[in-house]
Amino acid sequence: MRLIDSHCHLNYEGLAERRDEVLASARAAGVTGFLNISTRQREWDDVIAVAEANEDVWATVGVHPHEADAHPDLGASALVAATSHPDVIAIGECGLDYYYDKSDRAAQRERFQAHIEAARETGLPLVVHTRDAEPDTAAVLKEAAGNGVTGVLHCFSSSRQLADTGLELGFYISISGIVTFKNAEELRQTTSSDVSFVRAGPADVWTAFTSTLPPRAQRLQHAADRRGDCAADAGIDLVEDERRHVADLARRHLDRERHAREFAARRHAR
Ligand SMILES: [Zn+2]
Ligand SMILES: [Zn+2]
Repeated sequence: MRLIDSHCHLNYEGLAERRDEVLASARAAGVTGFLNISTRQREWDDVIAVAEANEDVWATVGVHPHEADAHPDLGASALVAATSHPDVIAIGECGLDYYYDKSDRAAQRERFQAHIEAARETGLPLVVHTRDAEPDTAAVLKEAAGNGVTGVLHCFSSSRQLADTGLELGFYISISGIVTFKNAEELRQTTSSDVSFVRAGPADVWTAFTSTLPPRAQRLQHAADRRGDCAADAGIDLVEDERRHVADLARRHLDRERHAREFAARRHAR
């Protein structure tokens, strides 16, 4: 099984300074590809430069919804022109974020449309960021898919309904470490209630989340099982060793939790 990090920000401050170290440790952990994501037009060149310098890194060009106000003139043509570089393999991240509302909503929708138009013209997939903007996102995705545009809903945190809409339209759904957060019960329900929910990219999705964050033991065990199911469902041959490794990890977490519980019980009994 190949592990690809489909969404990383190797040019972000704090990470850029130790980029080589970060890439090296990810490679050592088995990650064989990285998609370096753009969020502002002025960083496109730098994001692409990292891809140029590393054979296993590729790049996107796009403008994050938070940055919509700062790019009033961004149209599809600038995006299309930037995709002429062979390392640019997707458009984004783009989308709608009504949770933070850092940019005017109409501006966010306008920029999102520009990205979709660029994806249509180039045939490249979209990297979509969406938060608290379900009806508008669903409407835009439907229109995009009608024009032959799909992609991935990255770091998905919306409802089951939007997940279903996205999957029906041919989008991938990325389930990230958010699924392990305390307040992510709805997302857990969504992901655990139906194997087909993650059919689009199951092995990668679950691997990314099990290997990059230390979720609670039950989640890990669940992920190990679920990933096996999903892999089978998608016709992906999951490497047995890999599966065992995750299962072992889960067992160790469970042991640790049990010890902690027993220790607390003994102390209580005294
Ligand atoms: Zn991002
Ligand atoms: Zn994002």
